[in-house]
Amino acid sequence: MTRKAKDYILIGVIIFLSICIAATGFVIFRNYKDLDKLNEKIKHSQTTIDKQTEENNTLKQELEKSKQELETARQEKAALESENAGLKKEITELKAKRAAASKYSNLPAAPQNPQPVGKICYLTFDDGPSDNTLRILEILAYYNVKATFFVTDYAQSKIEYVPQIHAAGHTIGLHTQSHNYAQIYSSEAAYFADLNAISAKVKELTGVDSKVIRFPGGGSNAVSKRYCPGIMSLLTRKVTEMGYTYFDWNVSSEDASAPVVSASRIISSVLNGAKNKNSICVLMHDAAGKTTTADALPSIIEGLRSQGYTFAPLTKECYGYHHKVNN
Ligand SMILES: [Zn+2]
Repeated sequence: MTRKAKDYILIGVIIFLSICIAATGFVIFRNYKDLDKLNEKIKHSQTTIDKQTEENNTLKQELEKSKQELETARQEKAALESENAGLKKEITELKAKRAAASKYSNLPAAPQNPQPVGKICYLTFDDGPSDNTLRILEILAYYNVKATFFVTDYAQSKIEYVPQIHAAGHTIGLHTQSHNYAQIYSSEAAYFADLNAISAKVKELTGVDSKVIRFPGGGSNAVSKRYCPGIMSLLTRKVTEMGYTYFDWNVSSEDASAPVVSASRIISSVLNGAKNKNSICVLMHDAAGKTTTADALPSIIEGLRSQGYTFAPLTKECYGYHHKVNN
């Protein structure tokens, strides 16, 4: 082969290789451009996914919030339903009370025995017997004064002193067994069940069938309205019809106006209250803790004596010192 032929072949090979390199370069360039586009597409897709994920999260949060709101609404509904049921019950009870009240209201006042003649004092001790009873009995015995004890039989009472009170010549009055307003003033039947219980107890202890009574809070109490409107109008009549005499008072010792009232205040309450009257029924308490009432008693007796009073125990025939009935 000639040198020239060799050169042609070499040139041919070089041209061929150049064409090949150019073609490869072109293909690579094309692919590179496509890759760029693909990358851009991926980027775009990612952004779309991110956006949708974000939207999804927002929706999820809204759903959660809605669920909570629904739960709160459900709870509120349940509370309202329960409140509604309570109100309905209250309305029914009030209607029943109103019906009961209309049955009792406008009853004429219970009749009273005639007023005593001459200056007379009935000392009365409510809520006992108690730890103070024996001291009160000693003082009354010292002054030779007879009084009246309206007795109870609840936890702190000393019912065992009742025979001693009776033996000393005082009147045993009935003041209900429990002295529980909510219980005794809930109905006529509840009151008489309680009164009969203390009556039976006194009879068992003394043999006396006492017909002398005092309502807890007095005939004028308005507290009973809470438990049964009109109950006092009914009871004040009923007890009278049944042969009891109920007693209120026209002089208060004020010894129950605070847990402990000074003896001097108790004395002045009674002595001032007794002025310008002819007959008095004095409210005092023989409850546990009322020690100052016993302290005040000697001065009360002496003071009333100097105002011209004589003392007597209540009997069923005595004037009742009735208050105006407020329920
Ligand atoms: Zn009482």
